[in-house]
Amino acid sequence: MTIDEWHDKNKQSLSLDNLKLDEPDNYKLVITNTNGKLNASITCQCGSLIKLFRNRTYFQLSNFYNHLKSDKCTMIKSKQQQTSSDDRHNNQNNNNNQNDTNDNQQQ
Ligand SMILES: [Zn+2]
Repeated sequence: MTIDEWHDKNKQSLSLDNLKLDEPDNYKLVITNTNGKLNASITCQCGSLIKLFRNRTYFQLSNFYNHLKSDKCTMIKSKQQQTSSDDRHNNQNNNNNQNDTNDNQQQ
């Protein structure tokens, strides 16, 4: 399997439940070749770097999935809020990518 095929396959499988993730908006796939050894990692939009483990012929996305499902990922949280478009969630919509709202300095 070539990297392009792998990437294409992953793009399809990366849709988490009903959420659509768009590269490079939501994540960035980084593949490095060190001495013929491929290493892959994903930089999430929330700023987290997730290393992918290789399973013989392909990379496993379980780490990335676990990250998306965890509470750490602010990108998924904001995406879920967008999807639900529920006004009750607006108050906790801490989008780290908006620099003009510096209210959440307690973190
Ligand atoms: Zn994330």
